Amino acid sequence: MPRNLINRNRVLCFVLILCCSPRRFLARNLPEEVEESTAKTTQTIHVSNSTWHDFSRLVDVQKGSHVSGVSDLKRYLHRFGYVGDDDDGNNFSDVFDGRLESAISLYQKNLGLPITGRLDTSTVTLMSSPRCGVSDTHMFNSGVRTTAHYTYFGGKPKWNRDTLTYAFSKTHKLDYLTSDDVKTVFRRAFAKWSNVIPVSFEEVDDYTTADLKIGFFAGDHGDGQPFDGVLGTLAHAFAPENGRLHFDAAEIWVVGDDFKGKGSSVAVDLESVATHEIGHLLGLGHSSEESAVMYPSLRPRTKKVDLTVDDVAGVLKLYGANPKLTLNSLTGTEYSLKNGAVSRRFLSGNFTGFYALLVVFSLFL
Ligand SMILES: [Zn+2]
Ligand SMILES: [Zn+2]
Repeated sequence: MPRNLINRNRVLCFVLILCCSPRRFLARNLPEEVEESTAKTTQTIHVSNSTWHDFSRLVDVQKGSHVSGVSDLKRYLHRFGYVGDDDDGNNFSDVFDGRLESAISLYQKNLGLPITGRLDTSTVTLMSSPRCGVSDTHMFNSGVRTTAHYTYFGGKPKWNRDTLTYAFSKTHKLDYLTSDDVKTVFRRAFAKWSNVIPVSFEEVDDYTTADLKIGFFAGDHGDGQPFDGVLGTLAHAFAPENGRLHFDAAEIWVVGDDFKGKGSSVAVDLESVATHEIGHLLGLGHSSEESAVMYPSLRPRTKKVDLTVDDVAGVLKLYGANPKLTLNSLTGTEYSLKNGAVSRRFLSGNFTGFYALLVVFSLFL
């Protein structure tokens, strides 16, 4: 393709995507995971009323004040990369200092909130909500972002093969969900991604040799990223080609729409979190677009399983498009994508997003 045509396409892409979804890029890899802890027997889950991140009493705490609980907030922000190590180890004080104000501002920027540096209600509510355990550090070096909300891990790692195998741990599993239910959920979640990129996923029996290893773990499970009980951190996954996907076994995981039963008020939809974490396995970082599957936070008792334009654009740029992803299927007028790979919101009238995706096609395939 002549260079001037390529440049023209890039400008066109920029303009159209700008209309659709501004901002953000780049990333840093998660730390390498250490060897998994040795096999355990099937875990019995004890539900507690743990409220790891209830920061509600910190709403409207002012800069310069000394309030019990501010140190917990600093530890939370440190956990996700917003506060560096303290001079005195990590013995954070309860003083709302300038460093905390900067960290709050950066958090607000990454999570798509108004940037105030203050502990307003929306910020504290989001900090108290369950979220993915993957640190947000890969969102930091984005500079001025004008084209998208999606991000990648540092170095943009990806898989260089078109079939990835996955397997479930036979020891780190839940005893209250059937194997068939879990497998069905993951088949649907993997299909969301494989419908848009030329990568297929194949379930295998051998956990040790599978590319992607899925299991439910409780507390400190040997990879330096301990889980925290009910809510708080829900799951984490590692960048290519690590392949590990861990769910917090302490959550009340539900499949389908079973939010009414044992799930109670803290139920978490397994398919929503699986779809998000598979994005990480493929190389996507967090998105600051609240509606995106790759947004770091998920409200309990909600379902978010349809990829948005932002998710699709991010993963297309890494892998290109599935040849079966036709323009006709994108319009939704003649066909709809198998298993609803692109959100109904997108198919039913977000034409700016539709055109943005078309240009992504023309540029990166
Ligand atoms: Zn995540
Ligand atoms: Zn883990």
